[in-house]
Amino acid sequence: MADTKLARTNSMQLESGVAHQRCINPQCRATLDIAQVRTACDRCGDLLDIEYDWSKTAVPKRLSDFEQMWSQRHLPLRFSGVWRFHELLPFAPADKVVTVGEGQTLLQQSNEVGKYVGMAAEKLYLQYEGMNPSGSFKDNGMCAAFTHARLTGAKRAACASTGNTSASLAMYSSVTRLMKAVIFIGSGKISYGKLSQALDYGALTVQIAGDFDDAMLRVKEVSKDLGIYLVNSINPFRLEGQKTVMLRVLEALRWNVPDWIVVPGGNLGNSSAFGKAFIELKELGLINRVPRLAVINAAGADTLFQLYERRGLRWNNGQPDMAIIGDYYSDLDTRKAKADTIASAIEINRPVNLQKCLRALDFCDGVVRKVTDQEILDAKAQVGAGGIGCEPASAASVAGAKLLREEGVIAPSEQVVCILTGHQLKDPTATVAYHSTDQDQFNDVLGKRGVSRASFANRAIAVPNDLDDIVRAIQLYS
Ligand SMILES: *Cc1c(COP(=O)(O)O)cnc(C)c1O
Ligand SMILES: [Zn+2]
Repeated sequence: MADTKLARTNSMQLESGVAHQRCINPQCRATLDIAQVRTACDRCGDLLDIEYDWSKTAVPKRLSDFEQMWSQRHLPLRFSGVWRFHELLPFAPADKVVTVGEGQTLLQQSNEVGKYVGMAAEKLYLQYEGMNPSGSFKDNGMCAAFTHARLTGAKRAACASTGNTSASLAMYSSVTRLMKAVIFIGSGKISYGKLSQALDYGALTVQIAGDFDDAMLRVKEVSKDLGIYLVNSINPFRLEGQKTVMLRVLEALRWNVPDWIVVPGGNLGNSSAFGKAFIELKELGLINRVPRLAVINAAGADTLFQLYERRGLRWNNGQPDMAIIGDYYSDLDTRKAKADTIASAIEINRPVNLQKCLRALDFCDGVVRKVTDQEILDAKAQVGAGGIGCEPASAASVAGAKLLREEGVIAPSEQVVCILTGHQLKDPTATVAYHSTDQDQFNDVLGKRGVSRASFANRAIAVPNDLDDIVRAIQLYS
């Protein structure tokens, strides 16, 4: 079979140096062997990329060649929605990759949600990454980071997390038994759905008195001191796995490129990975046009929006104006500003992948918008009512698409894919409060976030425990 031939070529490629790590700063371009464990360039401190010498590896001639992998779902490597695209992320031999069956996701066309956003019929798609084994897109990246960690002989892996990274890390640790998971969370910021996963899967959970940005700084220090493998999206191998979200979108669209990809932005790993995927597909001649990228911040955590749309920060051929970033961060410090949104997965003020995201926005002619918690929760209710449902942060993509439609940036006839990053059950507190008839519960969870309405609430009806009353109520309301 052609596939076995590909797999066999792959295990040999490693010896012939098909992949290496490279600094993203064009003034530096330092390279590093892929066996090394780093989260930044030794020479200049910038982020690292995984770069491939495509001439030394077997890449399918057409994207549709990947369809032959479907007939081999009995092989873990081909069952995985990440590793069936192994030829496009060939940093590890095929027989060494870690998989727990991630990436079995769905691209659903939704006219219900499309109408809410303002699209013409059949133009809006929802990419359900909540269908991953730990319930968020993070599994796409975690299997790649775990693969690299295993190749380097790591015994412990750590992350700072708003919840989903820790759930994913904890799950990969418990299923594979390859490494002990150590997770850092801020106090009071993590939803029970996500925390329950980390605890259940047996991760060592360190709750520090601070927010995500504090936890992120600490975990970097601690992993350096103790030599623990870091799996936050600052890890370039993780982003390799996340490229495949875009490959599956293209696959579901029969390899046609949509007009827009709309994604929530937190630490900006996804948007960065999506940009890298399109850069490589274009370079390889596997696509001939590139979608536009819209990254959506929450209004309470809008660093990218402020920098990109308000202060004109650009990739600028790899030389972004660092003074703009520095000034913005010192202003945050002076004001003691902390990220604050109901969309806890994107409650981040200092996105670690900022520069890579700028590169993605540059390549994909991108835009950045911010949406309020009210807009997020209304969009989330619409996704639930006309789709499979999602957690609050994910709905930022739908709220953002609606805003861009209203502004006329997106035309009704364009094909739009909103990425739903996490499962509906991740954060039931926000959902139940939105639909609640209890004003105190609503205020307690949402009122303090400036959410005043629940326009799409589906409220439970209270009836006495009496057959006639129950029958009457159902007839009245249905
Ligand atoms: C991690 C996460 C995000 C943010 O993604 P980034 O890659 O950090 O921008 C958004 N939504 C959900 C559900 C997440 O878990
Ligand atoms: Zn460098």
